[in-house]
Amino acid sequence: MSKSPEEEHPQKALGWAARDNSGILSPFKFSRRENGEDDVTLKVLYCGVCHSDLHCVKNDWGGAKYPLVPGHEFVGVVTKVGSSVKKFKVGDHVGVGVLVGSCTNCENCKQDLENYCPKMILTYGSTYHDGTHTYGGYSDIMVAHQDFVLKFPDNLALDAGAPLLCAGITVYSPMKYYGMTEPGKHLGVVGLGGLGHLAVKMGKAFGLKVTVISTSPKKEKEAIEKLGADSFLVSRDPEKMKAALGTIDYIVDTVSAVHPLGPLLGLLKTNGKLVQVGLPEKPLELPVFSLALGRKLVGGSNIGGLKETQEMLDFCAKKNIVADIELIKMDYINTAMERLSKADVHYRFVIDVANSSL
Ligand SMILES: [Zn+2]
Ligand SMILES: [Zn+2]
Repeated sequence: MSKSPEEEHPQKALGWAARDNSGILSPFKFSRRENGEDDVTLKVLYCGVCHSDLHCVKNDWGGAKYPLVPGHEFVGVVTKVGSSVKKFKVGDHVGVGVLVGSCTNCENCKQDLENYCPKMILTYGSTYHDGTHTYGGYSDIMVAHQDFVLKFPDNLALDAGAPLLCAGITVYSPMKYYGMTEPGKHLGVVGLGGLGHLAVKMGKAFGLKVTVISTSPKKEKEAIEKLGADSFLVSRDPEKMKAALGTIDYIVDTVSAVHPLGPLLGLLKTNGKLVQVGLPEKPLELPVFSLALGRKLVGGSNIGGLKETQEMLDFCAKKNIVADIELIKMDYINTAMERLSKADVHYRFVIDVANSSL
């Protein structure tokens, strides 16, 4: 058997990996392919800790390949570019998100929807065309095809901007696609975590009135004073929910636990739209009466294509949108994962990879 490019010309990498479904991460030495003519090699600076990382290291969704190096929202500085790379040069700040490859010629890919390509290659836990595993951004270096590398705008903070590459595009893409951006309209954001807090900021940047809908009244002060939401609705308060019936145009639902849709659909006006970006493990019940008697729409969405991800980064740079983060070192990651599983973070952990011992 011929050797893969990675085996013949490896670039040595240090990262942290989970070895089994305990999900415990520990130092891991591995190699990445040598920089090919279409490749960009980057030194990883900051990597966000996404809820998917937690699911994947514990194999919650099945099919995990260990050792598993997570991380799919990271920013770094370019150290090598291939001969065919024109967009990037050594020293540039760049980002890598959830995808590092796709088939490039299916109907989805041709419409810049690589995120719906049946052959998309995920940044970690997936397999490249040459059969080698993909490893994510909890590591010192990354090699990626130039088409899956994003320019990171100068005025975006590198650490707080990193989560835009997954959490940011996950809420931006459906808001654009479903037309949830008309200034003056009323947006409800359900769940105030990594995705939800960015949905609030994007909603305000689009000129919407934003209401956070949460089970936890404790979050009201921060939602309004810190994140800029206009109002707060406690979903467990039947009186307030009743008073809010039919007052909301769009809902971005970020909750990944099983929850009833009925009360949320009741908040929508006629022609209202609810988009689900949280991914509950079990199916949700769909109250069709509530949908039909108001011509309402329920949709789904999953991250975004590369072109739209770049558009989102540029939009966030213009509007000064970054995540609220807690910066950690790599050796804190197991504690961070534990805290993330209890939603104990405001609102995203970001690993200071370059200043961590790996
Ligand atoms: Zn993610
Ligand atoms: Zn494709």
